[in-house]
Amino acid sequence: MAGNIMPNRLDRAFYQYQEELEAKALEVLRSGWYVLGPEVQEFEKEFAQYTGSRYCVGLASGLDALWLAFRVLGIGSGDEVIVQANTYIASVMGITINGATPVFVEPDIFYNMDASRLEELVTERTKAILVVHLYGQAANMEEILEVCKRHRLRLVEDCAQSHGACCQGKMTGTFGEIGCFSFYPSKNLGAFGDAGAIITDDEELAKSMRIYRNYGSEKRYYNKVVGANSRLDELQAGLLRVRLRHLSRLTAERRELACRYTRELQNQRLHLPQVRPGCDSVWHQYVIRTKEREGLMQYLERQGIGTIIHYPIPPHLSEAYADLGHQRGDYPLAEEYADTVLSLPLYNGMTREEQTFVIEALNSFPG
Ligand SMILES: *Cc1c(COP(=O)(O)O)cnc(C)c1O
Repeated sequence: MAGNIMPNRLDRAFYQYQEELEAKALEVLRSGWYVLGPEVQEFEKEFAQYTGSRYCVGLASGLDALWLAFRVLGIGSGDEVIVQANTYIASVMGITINGATPVFVEPDIFYNMDASRLEELVTERTKAILVVHLYGQAANMEEILEVCKRHRLRLVEDCAQSHGACCQGKMTGTFGEIGCFSFYPSKNLGAFGDAGAIITDDEELAKSMRIYRNYGSEKRYYNKVVGANSRLDELQAGLLRVRLRHLSRLTAERRELACRYTRELQNQRLHLPQVRPGCDSVWHQYVIRTKEREGLMQYLERQGIGTIIHYPIPPHLSEAYADLGHQRGDYPLAEEYADTVLSLPLYNGMTREEQTFVIEALNSFPG
């Protein structure tokens, strides 16, 4: 029997709010204003309010949010930024595009940066920590903030997977000086194309970001710095506003799906994800681990269940970063995760029957 269950179904989340989304799309198309307009302004206000920060600046992508964050903080050549070794490669590119050097730290058992290993990595060149709230779970901010304070490091947060996740009741993205978000369609708050944003409480940083995103100009044709074209368009901003209104419900739905996996998955061969007390998860991914990953993937594939690996190659072993000179064995935990993690299907609009099918398949995986 074939399940025909894909790792993700973006169409389902569209149909959940089809009417509102279509109405907004038409409204924007008919407005005659397509880039950096009223929808962007309203979205920035609403997203700042949602996260509990003072400013939000809409951008073209999550990667832009990251590299522009380091750019406006003045971090570049000769500087080191500590980032976890088991992240998506975009986090690392945000650092290296500026000429800064990424220094990797091993993950903890929650797949976030192991704060207890930070201290030993700090050198005189360390300027910042980039914390990634991976798979939707807030990192151990208490300890990370402590290290930042002790060594006067700047803190940037990669919240591309953690929209709405809190640590001790405070939302991810508001701990550091800049919180970076992606609204790529598959993210928890997803656009219908590429989009991103930063949030900050610092007026100067927000102002600087607005200049950088538009060719380095505040006033048309007067360019202060060599910036980027990283403008958010009206269509994406408008559609994001519709989704943002429903984000709490969308997150609750993901939580329910994740809870059910945790409750009903019973197979000794599978290691299930854990949540650190005080650091909640918005379940961008539900990531299990198994040494028999290849066999499990094929077994699931035969039953029509698709799965994805986030991520098979840690950045330090990526061809793109060969020049950093790392080898297999440098970060054994991150490498073990890369070899054993597997993301189960979890998406808004996933039916009870679909999930039952996945759970039964996993529980009867013979190994
Ligand atoms: C998606 C993602 C990004 C990059 O976002 P884009 O919008 O695709 O540029 C950065 N970091 C993490 C952790 C991500 O998951």
